[in-house]
Amino acid sequence: MSKSVAILGLGTMGVGMAANLLKAGFSLAVYNRTPEKAKALVGDGARLASTPAEAVRDASIVISMLADDAASREVWMGHDGALAAVKKDTILIESSTVSPAWIAEFADATTTKGAKLLDAPVTGSRIQAASGQLSFLIGGEEATLEAATPVLKAMSKEIIHLGPVGSGARMKLINNFLCGVQIASLAEGLTWIERSGLDGEKALAVLKAGAPGSPLLGAISARMTAHDYSVNFLLKLMAKDLRYAEEDAAHSKVSLKTAEAARSLFDTAVAKGFADKDMSSVIEPIRSK
Ligand code: NAP
Repeated sequence: MSKSVAILGLGTMGVGMAANLLKAGFSLAVYNRTPEKAKALVGDGARLASTPAEAVRDASIVISMLADDAASREVWMGHDGALAAVKKDTILIESSTVSPAWIAEFADATTTKGAKLLDAPVTGSRIQAASGQLSFLIGGEEATLEAATPVLKAMSKEIIHLGPVGSGARMKLINNFLCGVQIASLAEGLTWIERSGLDGEKALAVLKAGAPGSPLLGAISARMTAHDYSVNFLLKLMAKDLRYAEEDAAHSKVSLKTAEAARSLFDTAVAKGFADKDMSSVIEPIRSK
């Protein structure tokens, strides 16, 4: 493979994405604020850079997979940031779940630099990132997407082009708004089942087979029931996604009352010490009330 790729951010998702790029034969540079997380990737042939700028030195495609707007801003535009070091025509792929407002600001900066931007957040979680089965939600120009497709394909089962820059970020927030609200209502519903004396197994079977049944309800109810909060998706990231969703919908004059209610449950869980556990632990403060 001739393309040289850099990936910035080796958290739950980035580490699996990077592993699949190596598996596909791309020459890969990696950067992470906490460099220890790159150890296995370096063993498999990645070059570990000590700054974002150093990571993107030779890259024709740069992917970032970072926590939020602040992390993205820091890694792209902060001290030794990546943007200052990219060459003209480099393709930048922002895969973090960030706000469309930040994508718009970043897009202006990339244009000034002569680089090309795709916003490309993903659906799927840790397991799909590790197995190369993510779905990319893309905003950006068709020609840029075409040039980036071999790299995106190495990490995904599906690439969906939604429109101009910002469209992927917005679609991802709409998706996670619906997920966050469903998880919050499941947390309340399951606690209600547990306290009411209903047979929990039978009650969940009714829900899963009935109209509210969804892949999310099945997966998250199993974790809530087992009290398994090992991380697939950090709870604090869902609180962030709901906040960004509320802010973005407000620009379209839509007030997301259900997101607000769901976010208050996630914020409570953050305050109670569950920020760095899986999002399914949102049920615990409700259970212990
Ligand atoms: P994560 O495990 O928390 O990783 C976050 C990454 O951001 C790490 O590399 C972290 O570096 C870096 N970071 C955070 N703050 C930073 C800062 N101020 N400066 C520099 N680097 C910073 O998160 P993740 O689960 O991989 O998720 C990454 C993105 O994908 C998020 O936007 C999330 O909402 C989205 N997403 C996640 C999932 C999922 O199921 N997990 C699914 C779809 C989308 P350190 O390692 O040094 O902390």
